[in-house]
Order: sequence, then structure tokens, then C-alpha cells
Amino acid sequence: MIATAPLFNRSGGWLADPGFGVYVHIPFCLHRCHYCDFNTYEGQDSLFELYVDALVTEIERWAGATRPPTSIFFGGGTPTLLAARDLRRILEAITRRMGLSPGAEVSIECNPETVDEPKFEALLAAGFNRFSIGIQSLMPHVLRGLGRTHSAERALESLAAARRAGVADLNADLIYGSPWERPEDWARSLEGVLGEQPDHVSAYALTVEERTPLHTLVATGRVRDVDPDVQAERHALADECFGKAGYERYEVSNWCLPGRASAHNLLYWSAGDYLGFGAGAHGHLDGRRWWTVKLPREFISAVARGACTEEGAEVLDHEQRGPEALMLGLRLASGIDVGAFNARFGDGCLSDRAGVISDIVGAGLLEQSGSHLRLAPGATMVANEVICRLL
Ligand code: SF4
Repeated sequence: MIATAPLFNRSGGWLADPGFGVYVHIPFCLHRCHYCDFNTYEGQDSLFELYVDALVTEIERWAGATRPPTSIFFGGGTPTLLAARDLRRILEAITRRMGLSPGAEVSIECNPETVDEPKFEALLAAGFNRFSIGIQSLMPHVLRGLGRTHSAERALESLAAARRAGVADLNADLIYGSPWERPEDWARSLEGVLGEQPDHVSAYALTVEERTPLHTLVATGRVRDVDPDVQAERHALADECFGKAGYERYEVSNWCLPGRASAHNLLYWSAGDYLGFGAGAHGHLDGRRWWTVKLPREFISAVARGACTEEGAEVLDHEQRGPEALMLGLRLASGIDVGAFNARFGDGCLSDRAGVISDIVGAGLLEQSGSHLRLAPGATMVANEVICRLL
């Protein structure tokens, strides 16, 4: 069966009404990659069943505000390390408790080693309609350097298997600018992935995060550090290749075919509300942000005791919400819709910054075009610096 494409706003622009999202964190991986600082653990297979039970219980007992989600995102970790029937149980718990908006996007992150055609079919039947596959690179030495254990062939096969199973909404995740990558390696990875015609590509510059094996390798001089100039060149090449192939860059690191932007990520970049379930998951409702206990065992035990799984929370006041929403919205290529932004966050946020905005526009790094305020096309790689000046 071919899954129908979700109907929710996928144009890639800032959303005046971002909808309502649900994030589910699956904190397990086959193996930890050298660069990864996510909340994920290897060798905890014995916890899978207990964790799924805990998630279902936690979702069923959610007593806070809720609406039928316009997007649901299973991330990790490697969600597809769990059996399709377990992922289905979690998804059914969400839809039982909250309903589901018509045309909602229901995404799941997949590792190439944990998916094949029957698994995609089972996940489609369970209700998932968008699949995001962690390809990262198609060059064996780059994959090895990153600590990825899948092969390039397996990565390409996972994209092809998704299509054979009837996946109509497919994302490929890539990483560029690692110390092991030569210019021709990146060009070959881009060419190979585009050959499979995914609907969406996320390509992120490798960052060396503290407390990772990669950080130790760099700090001890065994691997050279990443070079921002090289990464800017790789980003430009990706932009050129994707553009020629008909993809639009709608966010600093995300490209899609027309109408195939990620609804869930648009919700984040439009400062929307979402619930987060699972170990280390984050949620945000109307300016209140919270996060749950990080360790899977702690999460399971808290749920079993009927205790609160929240580890911490912060409440953003009106003065803080506007700048944060501005920071997120300017990552989108279309920027923010000024009228809609002011309607949601008050006009003080932008009017207080009129002087600095005018200076940055004058420097050619921001553009005011019609009702939109956005980064100038050449300012994409200095987005963080521009945003820092604004804040
Ligand atoms: S598969 Fe993803 S989440 Fe898991 S260790 Fe690697 S980078 Fe981290």
C-alpha cells in the first residue's frame, strides 16, 4: 500500500499556527557513534520491553493540556531498534489519548542496519508516514571515522527498501565536513543519495561535542579538528547540487522537494508547543519547558512507582519568548512573517531591536522583504553570529 502524503502545512515557511507536536524518545542504539552526544545507550536490549511499557503508561496517564497532534516524531537513539509491534503500541497509546489531526505527519528515525522492506511495511501499517534514515556518508572511510557501523551499500539499500515498501515521504540525514572527508567524498555522497531521490535531505556540519570519543581524539591530536571554512564549502556544494536537482533549502541545514518540508521541525522552528515522552525527552507548552530523567532505568522505575518523570523545568516569560522565537524563526530561509510574529509574541521584541536590525540589514546579513524578515542568502553560514547580535 502506498502511504498518502500528510496534508499539514509542509511549504517550509514560518507557521503563524505551528500546530501541536508529540516527541517520543527511544534512547537505545546498536552502537554509539564516535561523535554522538545524544541521550542514548548501547547494550540495553533487556530494557526494551520495560521501556515500551513505561512509555505507554506515561502517555496514558498524561494529565496536562493536549490537542490532536499535527505531528508526531519518534527520535533517538535508534527507534527502529525496537520491534514494529512495540513502536505501534506506543503510537496507538498517543492516538488513543490525544487523537490525531487529519493529515498529521508521523515520523520515525531509522538506522540503515535496523530496517528492511518488511519492517518498513509493518511501520507503514502501524501508522508511520515519514521515514528519516541516518545515511551520514556513502564513503566507507568516512563512516568508519564517524564510528558508524553500517556500510554504504546498506545505506543505499535502506532508501531503496523504503520505496519498495511504499514509503512516500523519505528523508536522508547526512553529515559533512568531518576530518576524514575529502571534497570528492562529499560530492560522491551527495550524488549517491540524490540518485535515490529522497523527498527531503538534512545535511549537518559535524560538530565536535564534549564528552565524546571524537572530542578526545581531537583534544589529544590524533584527529584534526573540523575546519569551518571547509564546512562552508561543503554546505555550498550541497546547496548547489540539491538546487540543481529541484530541492529548496528551507532551513540552514534542510532541503526538500516542493511541499515536503518536515512539519515537526517547522513546529520547532516556529516556536510551537509539543509534548515530550521518554528518557531525556523535552517538552514545551505555552512558554513552559521541561525535561524528563535521562537514564532509561530511572524513567522505567519512576513510571512504575507512579512518580513524576520530570527532572527539571523552566518558565520563559514574555520577554524571553519573543527573542527565542526570533532565534528559531530566522533559521528558516523564508525567515519570520513580521505581522504574524508580532501577533504571537507582541511587537516589543522586534521594535526594541529596530536599531540593531537596521544595522544588520545595512551590513547585508539580514533582509526585509515584504512582510518577512530573514537572513540574507549569503549569511546562512554565519546565522549563529547574526542571531547572537540580535539577541
Ligand atoms: S545512531 Fe544516531 S543516536 Fe545512535 S549513537 Fe549514532 S548518532 Fe547517536
